[in-house]
Amino acid sequence: MNEDKNYQEKLIDIIEDLPEKEIRKSKLDLLQRIIERTDEFQENCDICRNNHEVLENIVRKVHYNDQSYLNDLKKLKGHMLGVHKLVDEGHYMAIFLSVGIAIGAGLGVASDNMPIMISAGLCLGSAVGVSLDVKAKKDKKVL
Ligand SMILES: [Zn+2]
Repeated sequence: MNEDKNYQEKLIDIIEDLPEKEIRKSKLDLLQRIIERTDEFQENCDICRNNHEVLENIVRKVHYNDQSYLNDLKKLKGHMLGVHKLVDEGHYMAIFLSVGIAIGAGLGVASDNMPIMISAGLCLGSAVGVSLDVKAKKDKKVL
């Protein structure tokens, strides 16, 4: 390394200097997790290996108002979700909750018992969602 610090250390410095609110707005926790995952996947993934350069650059321009920063972050995240099959936290909960409600509403119409069917669908949907989210976390599939 010809630089005194690598981008991981630089990011940690940035996080230490920024107020909590800006860290959240700039999604630096996400960026940090992407950096960790890139390290993890690079052995078997050419794109992750090449993404080091992108990460090097992105750390230099961290700012929630910088559109090119946000675009790069989005691209990096897209790679993690699309190629490495990672999911957002609460991903399955969001899906199965709405599936449960939709099925409940359908059954509600059919059985003329809307409130009960919707709440049954909601319960079942969130139960399935939660257990899939727990499993995803256990399998280290959450970004
Ligand atoms: Zn990759």
